[in-house]
Amino acid sequence: MERARGGRTREVAVQALRPFGTTIFTEMTSLAMKWSAVNLSQGYPDFDGPDEIKAKAAEAILRGPNQYAPSIGIPAIRQAVARKMKHFYGVDVDPDNEVTVTSGATEGLCATLLAILEPGDEIILLEPSYDTYPPIASLVGAQIRYVALERPDFALPQRELVKAFGPRTKAIVVNNPQNPCGKAFTRDELAFIASLCEKYDAYVIGDEVYEHLVYEGREHATLLSVPELRDRAFVVSSTAKTFSMTGWKIGYVVAAPELSRAVRMSHQFITFCGQPPLQEAMAFAMNLPDSYYREFLADYSRKRDWLCDALASLGFRVYPPEGAYYVLVDITSIGFEDDLEFCRMLPERAGVAAIPCSLFWKDRWQGRELVRFCFCKKDETLDEGIRRLRRWLT
Ligand code: PMP
Ligand code: GLN
Repeated sequence: MERARGGRTREVAVQALRPFGTTIFTEMTSLAMKWSAVNLSQGYPDFDGPDEIKAKAAEAILRGPNQYAPSIGIPAIRQAVARKMKHFYGVDVDPDNEVTVTSGATEGLCATLLAILEPGDEIILLEPSYDTYPPIASLVGAQIRYVALERPDFALPQRELVKAFGPRTKAIVVNNPQNPCGKAFTRDELAFIASLCEKYDAYVIGDEVYEHLVYEGREHATLLSVPELRDRAFVVSSTAKTFSMTGWKIGYVVAAPELSRAVRMSHQFITFCGQPPLQEAMAFAMNLPDSYYREFLADYSRKRDWLCDALASLGFRVYPPEGAYYVLVDITSIGFEDDLEFCRMLPERAGVAAIPCSLFWKDRWQGRELVRFCFCKKDETLDEGIRRLRRWLT
């Protein structure tokens, strides 16, 4: 609240942003710091990615130039993205006309939504839905249609989805694997979404930042590998999670040339360009051998199983994730009711921080019993978190 001239107080933020307040990630990490809690809330690793990636960035900074990159990103990283799309998914991508480098996936999502949504358009979000999409859609005056995935396994509710699509539907967001619930969409589910997008001439925005974290032998299915979506899909991804450098904010959008042109139009006025030395280092990172990706997944699979087992042994009902690096638990199984109250009390009482999940549904009552713990942490951090929860609960 700011004091306006003449002594009246007035809200500075525009109406559309006010309901969203400060993000839950900021709130919970602040609480973790206040109480020196083990921070299993905001999803960032407490370790950095490989030194060889850092060395490339340091070398590029010292060598220079350290001036603006081309708005769409330096050629090396766009080529690395194209190579990766072919290598992992068999999708041919033109690095010059179909890849746009952004400041993290967050800007990629923002640039995409701003490029395609008009006031009055409808956009479909699948709940529990990550927090970036609704504020941007609201800012442009688009209407959000929410469709909740079906518990316990967060299946796509086909009938509800059919009902949500209509003549005003401009786009649907598919976060795959999905934060916070860890859902990894199957090819059949994507094909079903594709059929609706074709019928209603809608776009699909894939948020695939956890593409390299799908467990138990599942394969990540990128939207761009669905033939019907090749000209309708914007795939947004990031190097933040895959290379454990969330602070670098190197993300990108891959889409057909006409769609990429639209993204580039908004991107040039949001950040214009990202940081070229970091882009150069991430181009190197993306070209690391397959063994990097295998070890990355194996390490996270182990942490996932470990945290799921430990939380179950504490009495929580656990939803083991199919992908990403979060585990949901049901707090009613240990006698609590409200996730927000639980997470606001946990850092002080137990010395551990987590994320309340009801905020990822429009109707808070739907996820009020769900709390998210992240496992993108060193083994000793997870160990200490589990130890503290056990001490508090017993
Ligand atoms: N989408 C999802 C689903 C996320 O969990 C996150 C946070 N890592 C982002 C987008 C943002 O990615 P970035 O840090 O690259 O902006
Ligand atoms: N994606 C991270 C999470 O889900 C948060 C990133 C952020 O704070 N914007 O925890």
